[in-house]
Amino acid sequence: MSTRTKIKALLESDETNVDVTVKGWVRTFRNNQFIALNDGSTNNNVQIVVDFENTDAALLKRITTGAALSVTGTVVPSLGKGQKIDIKAKEIEILGDSDPEKYPLQPKKHSLEFLREIAHLRFRTTTFGAIFRVRNTLSFAIHQFFQERGFVYLHTPVITASDAEGAGETFHVTNFDLENIPKTENGEIDYKQDFFGRATNLTVSGQLEGELGAMALSDIYTFGPTFRAENSNTTRHLAEFWMIEPEMAFADITDNMDTAEALLKYVIKYALDKNKDDLEFLSTRLLDEEKQKPQNERSEMTLLEKLQFCLDNDFERLTYTEAIDILKDSTPNKKKKFQFLVEGWGTDLQSEHERYLVEKHFKKPVILTDYPKEIKSFYMRQNDDGKTVAAMDILFPGIGEIVGGSQREERLEKLEQRMDEIGIPKDELWWYLDTRRFGGCPHAGFGLGFERLVLFVTGMGNIRDVIPFPRFPKNAEF
Ligand code: ATP
Ligand code: MN
Repeated sequence: MSTRTKIKALLESDETNVDVTVKGWVRTFRNNQFIALNDGSTNNNVQIVVDFENTDAALLKRITTGAALSVTGTVVPSLGKGQKIDIKAKEIEILGDSDPEKYPLQPKKHSLEFLREIAHLRFRTTTFGAIFRVRNTLSFAIHQFFQERGFVYLHTPVITASDAEGAGETFHVTNFDLENIPKTENGEIDYKQDFFGRATNLTVSGQLEGELGAMALSDIYTFGPTFRAENSNTTRHLAEFWMIEPEMAFADITDNMDTAEALLKYVIKYALDKNKDDLEFLSTRLLDEEKQKPQNERSEMTLLEKLQFCLDNDFERLTYTEAIDILKDSTPNKKKKFQFLVEGWGTDLQSEHERYLVEKHFKKPVILTDYPKEIKSFYMRQNDDGKTVAAMDILFPGIGEIVGGSQREERLEKLEQRMDEIGIPKDELWWYLDTRRFGGCPHAGFGLGFERLVLFVTGMGNIRDVIPFPRFPKNAEF
């Protein structure tokens, strides 16, 4: 019988002088005597002490970095530093060899760029083990937050027929033989002959469908993959990312802000409680990384302090208009240090402006509201001033925009008028407009980019390092 003990459980228990079986992968093997074994249940390794004098030399040779082992032995108090217990091996079985000459993950420091190229193996590093355990916890915590509040998890389609939202460039979905695409008499692509009988794409947002759900279920949320063919090679954009999109009936923009802030605090707290070891490790990793930077570019707080700070403080709430005034008067704007100078009301905020507000001016998360309608989507509720809409974006230190949301326009005439102004085909969105025709009501929602959240909580610098297999321009390996 395989009564395997996970290393996390073993290290948490104080019991010694018992026999256990552990299974995992060798991180290091020192002096033919000490194996650091890790099974992914925790970022801590268990130390296996091998009685090398009484162990077959051929077996010893096969204990190499990366090899998979099953070890049965006695738990004993450790004589070494840094761990409470060791396992004195009685029986070692090699489950999978790993040729040390060829194994790409040597027991030394590898760059994150290199590890991205071996993403199939990077889970086995302490850093990526920690990241993906934290990612798991955050994902669970998100479901728990909404479930505790009676939200219904709604699965919106991945394949859709419209990019009416205009959220970004879409990926086309087609079944056509690309060598021989059917054309109409006018020479246009004849989508009538395609699988769905019309042009389709991968979803850029589940919001519009989410609103339909909320108009019956009251509170819904989606949590699924989202695709944008934006050619932005940044540290904050992926072509495939996961988004959480709650939609709440009978809610206004303040309810929306309150929910988003509560959600972010809830999941950060959850991760701090659940993944303390991982976050302590990541906090130290960040400190080490920042030692390479000049003093003035280093963070004032450690990762753990930053997360705690986020829990202890209210997010700063202000309007776009107030933000523009602050930015216009700011030193980098006056000294022309911004790449895009803030000249007046109406321009979209660039990431450098968002980061100035969050990191320099307020030094805490910021919620910006009431943006000019011209720079926001058609479905956002028009404010009485005729110029702004009830939008809200949450900006985080080191990240910029992490949440984008709004109160939705529930008034049919206002919505149609805005769609006409922007040129959004109303006939295509007949189903969306129906919700305003039949029992429409005030409602609000937002989109939280899951990887941006994981970036913030893990303190990593590149979004490609917080999703197992990142998709970005010219890359779909693995
Ligand atoms: P940005 O201006 O940063 O590109 P956006 O305005 O396009 O963001 P929304 O359309 O409001 O973003 O999407 C909601 C959320 O989804 C964003 O706040 C962000 O957290 C996340 N997000 C958007 N685009 C991406 C992307 N390409 N990769 C990862 N996350 C994204
Ligand atoms: Mn974008």
